[in-house]
Amino acid sequence: MKKSDSIQIHDLSFVPLISEEAIQAQVNIIGQQLTERYQGKNPLFISILSGAFVFASDLIRAFDSHCEIGFVKLSSYAGTRSSGDVQTVMGLSKDLRDRHLIVVEDIVDTGRTLHFFLEHLRSQNPASICTVTCLRKPEAAQFPVPVDFVCFDIEDKFVVGYGLDYDDLGRNLAGIWQVLE
Ligand code: 5GP
Repeated sequence: MKKSDSIQIHDLSFVPLISEEAIQAQVNIIGQQLTERYQGKNPLFISILSGAFVFASDLIRAFDSHCEIGFVKLSSYAGTRSSGDVQTVMGLSKDLRDRHLIVVEDIVDTGRTLHFFLEHLRSQNPASICTVTCLRKPEAAQFPVPVDFVCFDIEDKFVVGYGLDYDDLGRNLAGIWQVLE
C-alpha cells in the first residue's frame, strides 16, 4: 500500500477497506430486498445513533415504498474499545406496538448493543423486528444476535468512515477505512 493511500486521524493511520461505490451497490441490493419484503406495511426504520445515520439515510432512500424513520442513541464505545455497558441515551418517542421494525446498525462488533436493544424492542410488542447492519465483525461476536441483512463481514480491526468515528473524527469519509497496525 502506498503511503499516500493512508490517512491520519489523531494517533492512528487508516487505509482504504471498502469503497463508496461498493457500499452503495450493497445498499441498493438490500434496499430492494426490503422493499419487496415490506410492501404496503409502512415499516419503521430505527437508526442507532450516531454511527448508523449515514447508512440509514442511504438505506431509506433505497427503500421504494412508504416508511417512517426514528432514531435512538445508545452508547458502549470510548476510543477504539467497547466500554462494556450499554446505555440508552436518547429513546424513541413512537408507539412500537404492532409496528414492523427495521433496526439499522452501523457495525455489529461483540453484538452487545444489538442484543440489549432487541430485548428492549421485543418488550414493546412490535409486529415484527428485522435487523440490518452495514458491517459485522464475525470474529468479535460474543452475543448471539440475529442479523437479517449484512452489507459486509470484515476482520476484527477498528474501522472509520461512512458514519463511524474515531473519537469524533472520520464520520464524513465516504468509504470505510481500516486501522493500519
Ligand atoms: P457492539 O455492541 O456490537 O460490541 O458494538 C457496536 C457499536 O460499537 C457500534 O454501533 C459502533 O458504534 C461501535 N464499534 C464497534 N466496532 C467499531 C469499529 O471498528 N469502529 C468504530 N468507529 N466503532 C465501532
